[in-house]
Amino acid sequence: MTNDQIIQLQSSLRGKLIKAGDPDYDTARKVYNGMIDKHPDAIVCCMDVADVITCVNFARENKLLLAVRGGGHNASGLGVADGALVIDLSAMKGIHIDPVAKTALVQGGCLLKEVDHATHGVGMAAPSGVFGTTGVAGLTLGGGIGHLTRKYGLAIDNLLEANVVLADGRYVKASASENPDLFWALRGGGGNFGVVVSFLFKLHPVDTVYGGPILYDISESAEVMKWYRNFILNAPEDVNGFFAFLTVPPHDPFPKELQLKKVCGVVWCYTGNPDKAAEIFKPVREFKTPALDWCGPIPFPALQTMFDALMPPGLQWYWKAHFVKELSDEAIDLHVQHGAAMPTPLSTMHMYPVNGAASRVGKNDTAWNFRDANWSMVMAGIDPDPANKDMIIKWARDYWTALHPYTAGGAYVNFIMDEGEERVKEVYADNFDKLASIKAKYDPANLFRVNQNIKPKETEVKVRIVSVEEKMPEHKE
Ligand SMILES: Cc1cc2nc3c(=O)[nH]c(=O)nc-3n(C[C@H](O)[C@H](O)[C@H](O)COP(=O)(O)OP(=O)(O)OC[C@H]3O[C@@H](n4cnc5c(N)ncnc54)[C@H](O)[C@@H]3O)c2cc1C
Repeated sequence: MTNDQIIQLQSSLRGKLIKAGDPDYDTARKVYNGMIDKHPDAIVCCMDVADVITCVNFARENKLLLAVRGGGHNASGLGVADGALVIDLSAMKGIHIDPVAKTALVQGGCLLKEVDHATHGVGMAAPSGVFGTTGVAGLTLGGGIGHLTRKYGLAIDNLLEANVVLADGRYVKASASENPDLFWALRGGGGNFGVVVSFLFKLHPVDTVYGGPILYDISESAEVMKWYRNFILNAPEDVNGFFAFLTVPPHDPFPKELQLKKVCGVVWCYTGNPDKAAEIFKPVREFKTPALDWCGPIPFPALQTMFDALMPPGLQWYWKAHFVKELSDEAIDLHVQHGAAMPTPLSTMHMYPVNGAASRVGKNDTAWNFRDANWSMVMAGIDPDPANKDMIIKWARDYWTALHPYTAGGAYVNFIMDEGEERVKEVYADNFDKLASIKAKYDPANLFRVNQNIKPKETEVKVRIVSVEEKMPEHKE
């Protein structure tokens, strides 16, 4: 951007524009993953819808690269880009709870923990993820897998409306009755279709839950994983539990004898009748004596933020992902081998169940395709030291490659890195073509392309251009 452009844009904004050389530029351009080091031309801290519209129009008219940042949590750093104008929504944190309608209207800059804080006040929750520092916007637009998935579905299954600034600057509502094609695409299609300024979510009665981690020695992984596979596929939907390989952190409150030990385990969340919790968890506790059992009554926001302090922003992250339909004994053998080889204390593998309520939505009812998968799995190489980057990348890639033949082919869009167009097609499978058509309708010039990009379907872009030209009045001398 030229100096003149920066001055012109700043003069029409309520929010602050931060450019290279400003004292807060280096802080503003940072995202959660310390591996990402992008230098945008300008970052606009939008304060309202008008600021967002101004930025979208300005980027389109001046042919600027445009990036949109919600929580900045995306592992491939898709909230920022070199040379871009960044729409930063992090100052837009309004949350309006309607306890009678049981809804929350949430602005695009909110983090999961902020929404939980607001909804917990009225004894409710909106299904989202498992880390409080994640951005609501990116998580929801990709799908949103979390502690409440088996009971209430993905975040998108609880999205009632989205208020969106489109590529042409129009501000529209997307819902089942207004712009339903856009609403379909937003539920899983990522940031391809516009800037979502606010989301209206359905809330559920989730208050104090029964949850937390139950961990076992890594040598017991095969047995634990086989038991978990059978349990979670048949458990009541009130019970959620994701399987993990991890290393016990080297500090309080973790027991000294476990610190820095590799373990496997399940992070549970039971939302049913508290009086039945002991009975529900009886088979869990009878199956095997764990190394650590921290599962019990806990306010939902505390469970959602339990791991935040262990994974502060700025760490090096590299992850790869799969959807899994069946977890065979052969696949478990490979898991055990690669899980035991985690290269650093923060590296981990999570396997989130997506059966239950999430699987009762049709695979073509929203953009999120893999409704018949039982798990969404992610292997994450993580470490504070950039010198270990190659090591964590290699571990995640080797693990992914070994498991690939045992998986469903695609992956959850929010768990992939920059893996190319073919991988994005695998994410959406037979929904990809419809997404490309909707992209052609709402963003024919691909203004929103700093994302897991779905290019506008070319034939439909041409049809749109011809029909616009036909409607143009004749030019007279
Ligand atoms: C530690 C950690 C834990 C995670 N846990 C979970 C989990 O439990 N469940 C889960 O489902 N995912 C999880 N994720 C993945 C997470 O969903 C993605 O990283 C997601 O992209 C984060 O959204 P964000 O708004 O923070 O990201 P950003 O980096 O801000 O944006 C990500 C993408 O979304 C687009 N975008 C952001 N805001 C908007 C908007 N308002 N309108 C249009 N486009 C927008 C951006 O342009 C970009 O392409 C986790 C990630 C990490 C690093």
